[in-house]
Amino acid sequence: MQADRIIEFRRSLLRWYCKHYRPFPWRMNPTPYRVWISEIMLQQTQAKSTIPYYIRFLDRFPDLASLARATEEEIIRLWSGLGYYSRARNVHKAARKIVEFHNGIFPEDYTTILSLPGIGRYTAGAICSIAFHQAKPVVDGNIRRVISRLTGIRNRIPEKYFWDTMAAWVPGKKASAFNQAMMELGAVICLPSRPICPKCPVQRYCVAKSKNLQDHIPSAKPSKAAKKVDLAILVIEYRGRILIFRQEGGFIPGKWGLPTRVVVSGQLPGETAAILSEELFGFRLSTEYCTVLKHGITHHRISAHIFTGRATGFISKKLKAKSGKQWANDMQLDTKLTSSLFRKAVQRCRK
Ligand code: SF4
Repeated sequence: MQADRIIEFRRSLLRWYCKHYRPFPWRMNPTPYRVWISEIMLQQTQAKSTIPYYIRFLDRFPDLASLARATEEEIIRLWSGLGYYSRARNVHKAARKIVEFHNGIFPEDYTTILSLPGIGRYTAGAICSIAFHQAKPVVDGNIRRVISRLTGIRNRIPEKYFWDTMAAWVPGKKASAFNQAMMELGAVICLPSRPICPKCPVQRYCVAKSKNLQDHIPSAKPSKAAKKVDLAILVIEYRGRILIFRQEGGFIPGKWGLPTRVVVSGQLPGETAAILSEELFGFRLSTEYCTVLKHGITHHRISAHIFTGRATGFISKKLKAKSGKQWANDMQLDTKLTSSLFRKAVQRCRK
């Protein structure tokens, strides 16, 4: 786009955004802290679904200091349901780093922001432009689609092209509104399929629309199918307490979890549960099938088969001696079991 057309294009887009932006809570009072948390939560999660998590999180951690003081378990618990828990861990690490190295004040410098855990080019650009009004570009999925259509390029576009285009388009003033307007356009008008071109404020500048190619750009990528996984999970009770253990890796996030094992092909969930109990107690504890819970997690569709059992005093004593295992009361379950799947499993078995 020529320089004078870029100016007109921005004007049309900004005028539309001023009137039609969706009043999300993170758009009110966009401090660096609030923008940062929202941008991290919005990665991989739809804006509407993010709202209750965002409100709850900001309620509990209204500022950097409160977030830095919190335990990782508490943060993961509030994050539970959003998935991609490494984001929550990085948010915690970054908050501690800002408190330790920047006197608890969110840095304004792009490179410094970029050096914080979990912050990439997109998030750094969003914080700098939205919270600090710096003319930094941002590129996300919506923006890629909008640029592809506006420029009418049918072939695969290299990532650098998107960033260079946004760097050329973002204005010195109103960078915050411009970047958000580009994302908003992609989210509500320039939709992945069937873009609403008649309502588009920048249709005059759109090459795809002028060639009637809007439904063919960008060309579809084959989607990655989610893998199915069956898990056997044990809810073992002893005097009202439930057995939990410290997890290392595994499918379900969180430091603490219920005894869990992947059901290998050719094995029944009940057999897997029996083998798991033998590994834990040294013999096959009698268990009952409780329910199956469906759970989605990064590229996996999980069917969790829940089994219940009661431990004896002998088992309880035997396990007490082992580190990384605990008979948790309700309060401990509440603070330690951060995964919504594990929490649901306990609730269901207690009904
Ligand atoms: Fe997208 Fe249509 Fe607007 Fe072009 S005219 S940017 S295809 S909504």
